[in-house]
Amino acid sequence: MVDLKSQYDKIQQEIDTAVIDVIRSTQYINGSEVKNFQHDLEEYLDVKHVIPCANGTDALQVAMMALDLKPGDEVITTSFTFVATVEVIALLGLTPVLVDVLPDTFNIDPEKVKNAISPKTKAIVPVHLFGQCVDMEPLLELAEKHNLFIIEDNAQAIGADFIFGDGTRKKAGTLGTIGCTSFFPSKNLGCYGDGGAVFTNDDELAKKLRVIVNHGMEVRYYHDSIGVNSRLDSIQAAILRVKLKRLNDYAAARRKAACFYDRAFSNHPRIKTPVRSKFSTHVFHQYTLIIENLDQFALQKFLGEKDIPAMIYYPVPMHMQKAYTDPRYKEGDFPVTEMLSKSVISLPMHTELDEEQLKYITESVLEFLG
Ligand SMILES: *Cc1c(COP(=O)(O)O)cnc(C)c1O
Repeated sequence: MVDLKSQYDKIQQEIDTAVIDVIRSTQYINGSEVKNFQHDLEEYLDVKHVIPCANGTDALQVAMMALDLKPGDEVITTSFTFVATVEVIALLGLTPVLVDVLPDTFNIDPEKVKNAISPKTKAIVPVHLFGQCVDMEPLLELAEKHNLFIIEDNAQAIGADFIFGDGTRKKAGTLGTIGCTSFFPSKNLGCYGDGGAVFTNDDELAKKLRVIVNHGMEVRYYHDSIGVNSRLDSIQAAILRVKLKRLNDYAAARRKAACFYDRAFSNHPRIKTPVRSKFSTHVFHQYTLIIENLDQFALQKFLGEKDIPAMIYYPVPMHMQKAYTDPRYKEGDFPVTEMLSKSVISLPMHTELDEEQLKYITESVLEFLG
């Protein structure tokens, strides 16, 4: 699905130097590279505070801890996402309230969010799925009206712009109370291990988040709150600094591949190619097709036999996962998510795809569909 080796080969010297410099510095934890990366990312995102942490799942967890959400509080999120989003809500004893998505963007439906708000609702967690922003303006209005926090799960859309109705732009993850991201190797800004970060424009929250990721400790060995140990290590930070400089070029390469796919599939009656929302740029974390009457696993197997990886994101909706079964929900409650889980397939999408590969992939998909 990704080609991290070819990407590394092109920046090898710069990466190797950055990594060796950290090793020689012996500042492996909280070294200067972590601070430098933090500042680089603050500047890139145009956000006041970036707090690096160990991974994207932790980012979501520390965000919810910093907002003092209490067991029983309801958190509204999407039924069509990677498990981490719902996992941390459940882990903290909060109540996940699931909401269906829109069939064209795969993203949470603001109208359904509105209907899900109750007196117990404390927060909304929109997930900018596959590289494109959720329609944030209606959510920001709802949050304002009902006094709710917004925690953006931006693990898949770092670098995407949200475009307001008046034309102004903000980077995905910087619109809500707190934004969360992941630097897992296959994400758009990936390191060579695990990594994550939270962002916020709120000074008080930033201070709290820094204490939480560091064992609830402000003054060394004095613990005023219960925290966690969640750090980005210096080697990963040094790698991320090299890759952040190229993030916009990487997004452009992904977009170019997406346009090739679009053209190849545009006339096929059963294939729906990804839409581009007017309120968001697309950074194509995934290139995901919706195909009518599809045996996804047969197509995946067919492509696999031709050495083409393809993935089904996500085959089982949250409310139908064993760990998250809940008497409030049953099969049929989230028809769009359920339809998508049976008809989506994601094709290889990364920065190194060339025309020859794209041609081979698209011809193979079309050959299967006949
Ligand atoms: C990858 C991902 C996460 C979790 O990130 P990790 O760094 O793997 O913990 C959370 N939410 C979404 C939507 C993701 O895609």
